[in-house]
Parts: sequence; C-alpha cells; structure tokens
Amino acid sequence: MKKVLVLEDESSIRGFIVINLRRAGYEVIEAESGEEALEKLAEHRDVRVALLDIMLPGIDGFEVCRRIRAGNSRIGIIMLTARSQEMDKVTGLMTGADDYVTKPFSPAELTARVDALMRRSGGAEEENDGCIRLAPFVLNTRNRTLEKNGQRVKLTQVEYSIIHMFMENPGKALSREEILDLVWGRDYFGELKIVDVNIRRLRLKIEDNPTNPTYITTVWGYGYKWGA
Ligand code: CA
Repeated sequence: MKKVLVLEDESSIRGFIVINLRRAGYEVIEAESGEEALEKLAEHRDVRVALLDIMLPGIDGFEVCRRIRAGNSRIGIIMLTARSQEMDKVTGLMTGADDYVTKPFSPAELTARVDALMRRSGGAEEENDGCIRLAPFVLNTRNRTLEKNGQRVKLTQVEYSIIHMFMENPGKALSREEILDLVWGRDYFGELKIVDVNIRRLRLKIEDNPTNPTYITTVWGYGYKWGA
C-alpha cells in the first residue's frame, strides 16, 4: 500500500488530513512532532510522501525537511503552510520540499497534490528504459539518477522530472506554463514561481557556475531551455 507520513501537531487538523488520505486509499503514518516524524520515517523506509506542518513545538517543519533530504532524495515532501506566511513557500522549497499546500485546504486539493507526487515518486513505467546522454550528463531513466562527469548528482523527484523533461527536449524553449504542466501535472493548483524556485535550486546542483548557467538557460519573458 502507498504510505504517507503526516506531521502535524494540532490533532484536529491531523485527524482531518488522516481521514481524507485513508479515504483516498493511502496508508497513513502519523507524527505530532518533528522528532517523532524522523523516528517513524527511519522505521518506515517505504513512505513515499511526507506532509510537514511548519510551526511545531520542537524542531520546525523546515528543519525536518532538511534532515529528511539529507538522507533521502526520493521521498516526496509537501509543506503545510499558513496563508499569512507567504515566505514559508519559498523557504520550504529551498530546504528541499517539492510542493506546498496552504491552510485551510480542501480534501480534494490535498489528495490531488499527494496523488501527483505519488505518481512522480512511484516507479511508473518509463517508456525508455535506457539512458539519455548529453555530455557531460547521463540520465538513467530506469533508476532515475543523474551523473555529471561520472559523478552522481543527488536530485529530488521534482528536480529529476525537470531535468528529464529538458534532456528529452534539448534546445527546445519551454514556457514556464508548459514546464508546470509537464512536471507538476495539469491538475496542479499552484503558482508559476514554483518553476523558477526549482530551476534555481537545480542550477545550484548541475551548473559549473550557477550565476552564469549554460545547461539550463533562461529564455527571457518566456521560460527555459536546455543548452545555449
Ligand atoms: Ca502547527
């Protein structure tokens, strides 16, 4: 069964999330503190998506996200943000989250986001079971890994999806809307800036000089493309 971890200290909100995810067919692991969430993730290595509240009594959700990412780049992470805290979104994404949901959210919105991340993290059949080679990169679509000059680059699932899309379309300018549709899915409710934030983070990992990118280049007023 597909496992989701829910970290939320307010029991009424946690209960609401848990009930709705169970209804949608997920097995749910609950945690009320960041420390407990990390322990449970160590126990349940097959959790594929984690929902992390930010304001918590012990370590906060950003720190939990950072620690999860330090050891696991494959798990999907969704931050639960408060409407009043716009900056949470960007901070969360910079600490390695894949997505965020703003409270209060509807059950439909929440499960749509979890479903979308699940699909991406979920060993869905790739049509191409080999490697895409664009020197100095080799993208292995079977085990979803990237190497640059033979060195493994650790990517989140979203980052992997972005680079996969670029390497399948080298030299083609892709609009931010297209990237959002291709990577996050057409049922995604979020904003375009999530594309820019993820590309900024990806550039830090793959570019020789992230301030002067040569692999993922900007197409001004439009979007991005692979190559100059
Ligand atoms: Ca809280």
